[in-house]
Amino acid sequence: MKLRPDLGLTFDDVLLIPKRSAVVSRKQIDLSAWLTPQIQLAIPIVSANMDTVTESEMAIAMARAGGIGILHRFMTVQRQAEMVQRVKRAESFVVENPLTIPPTATLEEARRRMLQADIGGLVVTDAEGTLLGIITTRDILLAPDLSAKVQDAMTPRERLVVAAADEPLTLARQKLYQHRIEKLPLVDANDRVVGLVTAQDIIKIQEHPQATKDSKGRLRVGAAVGANPSDLERARACVAAEADVLVVDVAHGHLEIVIRMVQQLKREFPSVPIIAGNVATPEGVSDLHQAGADAVKVGVGSGSICITRIVTGFGVPQLTAIADCAEAGRRLGVPIIADGGIRNSGDITKALAAGASTVMLGSLLSGTKESPGPTIFRNGQAYKVVRGMASLTANITRRKLDHQNDVDWEEWSDIVPEGVEAVVPYRGSLNEVLHQLLGGLRSGMSYCGATNLTELVEKAEFIRITHSSQVESGVHDVTVL
Ligand code: 5GP
Repeated sequence: MKLRPDLGLTFDDVLLIPKRSAVVSRKQIDLSAWLTPQIQLAIPIVSANMDTVTESEMAIAMARAGGIGILHRFMTVQRQAEMVQRVKRAESFVVENPLTIPPTATLEEARRRMLQADIGGLVVTDAEGTLLGIITTRDILLAPDLSAKVQDAMTPRERLVVAAADEPLTLARQKLYQHRIEKLPLVDANDRVVGLVTAQDIIKIQEHPQATKDSKGRLRVGAAVGANPSDLERARACVAAEADVLVVDVAHGHLEIVIRMVQQLKREFPSVPIIAGNVATPEGVSDLHQAGADAVKVGVGSGSICITRIVTGFGVPQLTAIADCAEAGRRLGVPIIADGGIRNSGDITKALAAGASTVMLGSLLSGTKESPGPTIFRNGQAYKVVRGMASLTANITRRKLDHQNDVDWEEWSDIVPEGVEAVVPYRGSLNEVLHQLLGGLRSGMSYCGATNLTELVEKAEFIRITHSSQVESGVHDVTVL
């Protein structure tokens, strides 16, 4: 047995000491951060791979805001891969393989396909891929008979404006404007469809200049996988769907099966960045790095919905875990993702000042419009559900997925949960929440004169505080309206 002599600290145990600062405007502050050595983000925020936090809607909104979302893995492999595709299709410079439909399909089939893929139009082609027309939601919306054929409702080839495969984006934009059209199919010399430029995509590029994108202008997205042999199939499907990063996510990431999984994924997909976790020690960072992890997720028992520390007695207070792991990360060139326990913008500033490259947020984002699940009402107040991925009900969901059928009561009582189910107040759109969090972070950085996150770490000086200082830090001696 060993007992570390120093105290483990978490966010509320410290404050950052204000320093002389030349920052006059928050606009001077650059929040760009490295998720992995291959992927840069405009903001250091990652949405957690929890089934009440990140599905495709959240991942799209996160990437547009300049962060990234990690799709959770508590769904079928097929559904997760479809979600990856949905994010990758949400926008791009050029849609490379536009969804097509044969002219003989019904309007009902076209409607269903557009709904499934969350898009507004389909290219109509023959079996060889030759362009025959375009059908959009507007052609279907008020159609009296959905059993009619696509060929009778589409805009036919002779009325379409098209462009060559290598049409520069600026010219494509001019054509869209000149002809007041929304979709420009790209065709080869034989009139076969090789791509699609849409007005929507061009508008989105202008609307979200900070968006996290791949080299083809598509939003980036991560996919979580577990460490069981069956998770290889999940990883393969997500990589085939062009996920930008895989996250091997296990509550105790310093496990030999996690190390082996990372090695295997690196061997099979050498060009796909791999994040692994969660760990809470420099040894954990080093072992996962050696196995091939490009970035490491840090946090054991720190999550808002997590009871691991109570159930098992294990964990490291989160600020100490971040600082220890970040030091190892700096030595090894591994970015650290601080995961769990962040409740406000002050905690984000502290996590990044302690050396994390990015922060992962769970419950803080679970109350947004973009998180999965319905809004529920209690006494006139709106809430959304958040649950730990090791909670009782999440365990049941996972077992149902594994067995493909119901779980009997005996199995319920067999489960030892390490997380809880809870509700959080509905917080509006992700952008509104991020605006407040990033505003607080920028303001925090200006308190020590840091114009970027590297300077924040260099300049940051923490001071440990007492319980009475904590009381002083909150609103006190007044009745809040
Ligand atoms: P939050 O931002 O809500 O404080 O923490 C989110 C993080 O908590 C997740 O990214 C994940 O690492 C962790 N987490 C999620 N569900 C559970 C759970 O059921 N048990 C434990 N121990 N941790 C969880």
